[in-house]
Amino acid sequence: MNKAVFLDRDGVINKEKKTYVKTIDDLEIFDNISSCIQKLKKNNFLVIVITNQSAIGRGLIDVEKLNEIHEEIQNHLAKSNTKIDAFYFCPHHPDENCLCRKPQPELIIKASNDYDIDLQSSWIIGDNDSDVLAGHNAGCKGIKTDNSNLPSAIEKILKN
Ligand SMILES: [Mg+2]
Ligand SMILES: [Zn+2]
Repeated sequence: MNKAVFLDRDGVINKEKKTYVKTIDDLEIFDNISSCIQKLKKNNFLVIVITNQSAIGRGLIDVEKLNEIHEEIQNHLAKSNTKIDAFYFCPHHPDENCLCRKPQPELIIKASNDYDIDLQSSWIIGDNDSDVLAGHNAGCKGIKTDNSNLPSAIEKILKN
């Protein structure tokens, strides 16, 4: 079985925007993200993004636009010969009470089935309690941090 580090997107990979990341122009990818992902992949972790994108449910962007933004992240990583293995997103408005919005574990569980991931040896990193809670609900370990402490969170995972 595989092991994975699940990453929250906004606040971890790119700057969180109060008005949402709606276009590639809104996307500010953090400088350290390529080296962080390289390090995880070198240590045989799959890297999978799990992100709540209520901007879709709010009617601010469509799935096509979201996919473009994720492609832009991949293009950025490709310059450093690395990549994210998959993106899973919840498109729903919080009021919809869906089963896939973090802290619900559904997207993590779906990813674990799709990629044959052993959740007990996997982690989630995110900047909200709901990220860590989603991980715990799925049966993996979690670290709450924003991008500023991402390198040390990764060190902690690799030492574990
Ligand atoms: Mg976040
Ligand atoms: Zn959802």
